[in-house]
Amino acid sequence: MSDRTIAAIATPLGESSIGVIRISGESALGIADKVFFAFNGEMLSDLAGYRAAYGEIKDGERVLDDAVALVFRAPKSYTGEDVVEISVHGGRILLREVLRLILKNGAFSAEAGEFTKRAFLNGKTDLTRAESVMGLISAKSEAQLRLSRAAHMGKVGEKIEEIEGDLVAADASIAAFSDYPDEDIEGLDYENFLTMLENARNSLKKMLSTYDAGRILREGIDTAIVGKPNVGKSTLMNMLSGAERSIVTEVAGTTRDIIEETVTVGDIVLRLADTAGIHDTDDTVESIGVDRAKQRIETAGLILAVFDCTKPHDKDDYTLIENIRGKKVIVIINKTDLSCKLDKSVFEGFKIVETSAKKGDGYERLSDAIAEVAGTADLDPDSAVLLNERQRDCAVRALDGVNEAINALKCGCTMDAVGVCVDDALAALFELTGKRVTNEVTDEIFRRFCVGK
Ligand code: GDP
Repeated sequence: MSDRTIAAIATPLGESSIGVIRISGESALGIADKVFFAFNGEMLSDLAGYRAAYGEIKDGERVLDDAVALVFRAPKSYTGEDVVEISVHGGRILLREVLRLILKNGAFSAEAGEFTKRAFLNGKTDLTRAESVMGLISAKSEAQLRLSRAAHMGKVGEKIEEIEGDLVAADASIAAFSDYPDEDIEGLDYENFLTMLENARNSLKKMLSTYDAGRILREGIDTAIVGKPNVGKSTLMNMLSGAERSIVTEVAGTTRDIIEETVTVGDIVLRLADTAGIHDTDDTVESIGVDRAKQRIETAGLILAVFDCTKPHDKDDYTLIENIRGKKVIVIINKTDLSCKLDKSVFEGFKIVETSAKKGDGYERLSDAIAEVAGTADLDPDSAVLLNERQRDCAVRALDGVNEAINALKCGCTMDAVGVCVDDALAALFELTGKRVTNEVTDEIFRRFCVGK
């Protein structure tokens, strides 16, 4: 436990009805007593945990504001230390003044993520739950929130512990076997041992298989809307964003550059770029836009390729189809409110959605198709889904270790060699949940948090 008592503003700096300043550490109550004066004369340091007092914040004789102070006693607090949370009116200047006063009276300014880091170091939370806090705060869709909440409720940690259980049991069998080295491999109950390792492998594979879909739900997906001029790309973008955002005109080639916008379709945040149409052009400015559209196709995680159903295919259509083949694509056949002259057979192998962007028809179909192509349709956001690259990296290393252990076993290697692989896998899982993790890794994780968390 750190001997420094820390303080920070825990709510955003803006204009709000209340703002909260959090103090945590051995001297939290003593420091709060110097700045907070309850109207009933009680000292905060005399209050039991989970008690609140109403009073005022005073710097000498100067009253800064009315305040409510809430007391938490160690270890029953967020950080596991004594904590005081002081609520005052939520003004930027006021909150800064109160914080400055608290720092003047002996608290240190909290570093980014220091409250949650202390919660982790004091055993209040494992790393998967601590890391979910950022997601709870920054979620931009219900699905993102549900993923973070599942991790916060301990689902990821529990799943990893289950896998650890299999590996620890495997380790124990190896240890028992090593005590009787003269016995042959049957003395180990080979089948049971292999089953434990295979269970661990299957669970790790399953967790890793949902990672990409989870990442798309959390972070969104770079999406390019591509197609020839006038097929309805801007109109489609407006349908998705529900606003007149892109320039829509009757003249082909109006969208000359990439327009970026973020929209939420179903559960997925799309970072949309409405590109210039891909077609041959002598116009210099337009051709720059065409080149950028081609680049965007290369880097996008999802491509919405729009075609006008009222016109038969031409050379530009075939060029586009060749450019998008093999990528994550939805072919959108637009203007279906008019009569169709397009031969749909050229889109064989692609996911196709028919829309009339102008009439707003096809939104639901498109939303379902996006979830299907992005791989999020079958993901249960309330299940144990790894939350970030760090966790994924640990799970990959654990899976490597388990695979190596299984191979070593099947190749007839010594049990010591198998044991080394199992230990590698376990070390990776302990790092994932934080049971055994270096200070450098811990510092790196919490550095990404904001001050006050
Ligand atoms: P872009 O160049 O691909 O961005 O195409 P625009 O979105 O600017 O649309 C070109 C023209 O097609 C405009 O007159 C739109 O109103 C019209 N348009 C777009 N979508 C539809 C549709 O679904 N049905 C019909 N009838 N017209 C559409």
